[in-house]
Amino acid sequence: MSITSEPDDPVDLNRLQRRLERERAARLEMETVYEKGLRELYLREQELRVLQDISTATNLSPSVRDTFHHALGRLCEYMAWPLGHAYFVETHDGATRLKSTTLWHVQDPEKMEPFRAATEALDLAVGEGLPGMVCQSGKAIWLPDVDSKTFFVRKASAAASGIRAGCAFPVLIGEETAAVIEFYTERSVAPDTALLKLIGQVGTHLGRAIERQRAENRLIHDASHDPLTALPNRSLFLDRLNQVIARGKRNPQILFAVLFIDLDRFKIINDSLGHFAGDDLLTQVGHRLQNALRGDDTIAANHAAAHTGTLARLGGDEFTVLLSDIKDPSDAVRVANRLGEALRHPFVVDGQEIYTSASIGIASSTSGYETAEAILRDADIAMYRAKTLGKARCELFDQDMYAAALQRLALETNLRRAIQNEEFVLHYQPIISLRTQTVVGFEALVRWRKPDGELVYPDEFIKITEETGLILALGHWVLREACRTASALQTQYPRENPLTMSVNISPRQFAQPDLVEQIRSTLRETGLDPHGLRLEITESVTIDDPNRVASVLAELKELGVRMSIDDFGTGYSSLSYLHSLPLDALKIDQSFVAKMGKDAESLHIIQTIMGLANNLGLEIIAEGAEIACQVTKLQSMGCEFIQGFYFSKPVDATAIAALLANPIRQMDSKGSTEC
Ligand code: C2E
Ligand code: CA
Ligand code: CA
Repeated sequence: MSITSEPDDPVDLNRLQRRLERERAARLEMETVYEKGLRELYLREQELRVLQDISTATNLSPSVRDTFHHALGRLCEYMAWPLGHAYFVETHDGATRLKSTTLWHVQDPEKMEPFRAATEALDLAVGEGLPGMVCQSGKAIWLPDVDSKTFFVRKASAAASGIRAGCAFPVLIGEETAAVIEFYTERSVAPDTALLKLIGQVGTHLGRAIERQRAENRLIHDASHDPLTALPNRSLFLDRLNQVIARGKRNPQILFAVLFIDLDRFKIINDSLGHFAGDDLLTQVGHRLQNALRGDDTIAANHAAAHTGTLARLGGDEFTVLLSDIKDPSDAVRVANRLGEALRHPFVVDGQEIYTSASIGIASSTSGYETAEAILRDADIAMYRAKTLGKARCELFDQDMYAAALQRLALETNLRRAIQNEEFVLHYQPIISLRTQTVVGFEALVRWRKPDGELVYPDEFIKITEETGLILALGHWVLREACRTASALQTQYPRENPLTMSVNISPRQFAQPDLVEQIRSTLRETGLDPHGLRLEITESVTIDDPNRVASVLAELKELGVRMSIDDFGTGYSSLSYLHSLPLDALKIDQSFVAKMGKDAESLHIIQTIMGLANNLGLEIIAEGAEIACQVTKLQSMGCEFIQGFYFSKPVDATAIAALLANPIRQMDSKGSTEC
């Protein structure tokens, strides 16, 4: 057996000693490392918990303020610092400011009062003070001693509250600083990297909360604003109006008014230049109205409370203004005139100068309104009156207008029913050839025979059917009925030049995309030879959309239908333009014939029209000849065709046979041309 003698060796003892020491040191080191690790693990876990807490609060709490409040409290608790506060960054008209808020976490409110008061008074520019510096750099700043930094402006109040150290950090959305948060404590504390990292992460969380609220605000904004003009939409306008009405009920001294603005001729512009151009125009109009409204200080000047106006777009070319604080309805008229004035200069759309104007109706609270709908309705009625009085003007609502509007509504309802029940009849007025002394054709003129037997003339209802679109159904009926009658007449009274039937086509009818097809199928259905049909359109129809007019007329011409311009001389069509259209006849407006005896100008106009028609190779039909001298005068001027009471009033279908059987009325043999 062998025995080791090494332990007894003093050299070896030393070695052993060293080894043990080494091992102890290593063990100690390991223990330290282990403990440190544990501590870090613990710290990390605490940090995570703080973050987790704040993120949960962000997701649960309904408002950014609540989220911030919670975060301030949680961080103060974690850091064991007694005070935390938030600023929001706000941008107005291009200027960015940091606004102090009432968001605080304060452990000892009494002690902190001086500092709190000084802080809440702050309104800082970017770069100013501790929060301003953080906002500018987008980075956290740690002040172990607030007294040592010149940029720290609240030294006195900090001292009064016993504050020594502070740190502030940005709440970031991407690169943007949306808010700044600051913390303070009474001890001097050196910067803590782990803490800075944590608050950096908290900043990101809070940034998300702000971002989310912004998205929500955007949604709310979008739901209450018109996407094209960014103006309040109908629902927001009604909301505000209802608020004002409620306020007016509590305090009858408050006067307010609603302006209803409708652009004149917008449809024509939109149809001829296209929808993009129309949208562009509406946007520009919105801007001009808004600026004109803002610039209005006439009311504010003679009024203690500043006047506030809400401009909204209801849809289409309709805008409204709510003037919520006026002294007198005349204030509203002044604003309306100012808005109208703002639209006077041309707009540039698609490189073209465009003129537009607005018809404005005003209803004021002096009429006593219970609902938003009622005041809006009356402003609309007044706007309608402004339109009928010649557009580009404003009208203040009154009770007569209301009565008229009611009547109009009743008429519209009755007309709708009349169309359904086919309560209409056609009368026919003969057109006479002075050369052949015969009836060459008829004009179909519609009448409404009410159930009680009363006969209503078109001047009382055509306009409203045109405005409401009822003319489309009525016009179609007229066309079919007139063609049927004409077809029967042609069979019954064969002529070398077959009898013709003239039918009035209103602007709205003419605008129908399937007009040509409608006429073609009506001709087929009624068996009328297309040459027997003459369509009468007014000059206004030819001006609206020249390209379309030309192509529709060309198609009708090819079909064999003849075309006349009705009421000629009252519109503004250019002669060179008329020349380019495939027309057959001009009908001289009856107002000229009526005055030709007394008024040299009317006579001159008739002469000019006849000269023009001769040059263009068009027939002339003079309308409204009532007395012999008008007929002889027209004849002496070379007019061949006459339509007027002198020969016959419009008659119903049963009277046509008698008309055609008898020779036409002869002119006074002593027929003088002087009337
Ligand atoms: P218009 O097309 O100019 O029709 C001629 C009008 O003048 C008719 O009035 C006719 O009765 C009247 N008239 C004819 N000769 C004389 C005369 O010697 N003296 C006077 N004072 N008047 C005369 P009416 O039937 O009342 O029609 C008025 C207007 O209503 C028509 O004017 C036309 O613009 C419109 N209209 C009539 N029927 C229709 C229709 O079926 N469709 C459309 N769109 N409009 C129609
Ligand atoms: Ca006519
Ligand atoms: Ca006419």
